[in-house]
This record gives sequence, C-alpha cells and structure tokens, in this order.
Amino acid sequence: MSSVSDSGVTVWRCVSCREAFYPERLLCPRCHGDRFEADRAHDAVVEEISVIRHMLGQENWQPRRIASVRTSSGPRMTVGLRDESGPGAVIELFEENGAPFGRAKS
Ligand SMILES: [Zn+2]
Repeated sequence: MSSVSDSGVTVWRCVSCREAFYPERLLCPRCHGDRFEADRAHDAVVEEISVIRHMLGQENWQPRRIASVRTSSGPRMTVGLRDESGPGAVIELFEENGAPFGRAKS
C-alpha cells in the first residue's frame, strides 16, 4: 500500500499575536488580525476517543478510532488514530493524503 505521508499537521499561526488555529480562520478570534502563516504541530495529547463502528453504505467497514486531541501548538483537532492510544496519551501527528492522523510516539 502506498500513500503520501508527512510528519506533523499544518496549523495556522496569527502573524500579530502568534496564536495558532486549526482549521484556518479568516480573522483571528483573539486579535482580529487577518494574516496567518503555516506552522506544523508534531505532538498532541489525546483528550477523547470515539469509535466509528458503522458507515452508511459501506460494507466491510472496519471500526475506526477517532481522537480529539490538543496539539502542542495549542489548537484542538480531530484526527484518525492508528493504534490503541487512550486519553492522556501523547501521540505524534502526521498527514496522509491531506488528512490528519496520530499514533503513539515511538
Ligand atoms: Zn491574532
């Protein structure tokens, strides 16, 4: 199986106040600045896990684990989990085909 995999996940940092956001905003909710630069979050702490057991119209669906995490850069995001990491675990973030994923730090 081949796929494009990159270390870290892109977050957007306000040029004025340095607060980081995900996904990208039009205006910074903190200082109302409108200029952002791309940054990368590499680590996150798992806050909550959900499991998607069924998907409408999909046969042979394998249960998938989704984690809501808080990145080391600040913003929370939802990522696909590639292992059994639970709440409180520190995971490394990566992108696969443009989507955010996480797995336990090795
Ligand atoms: Zn700002």
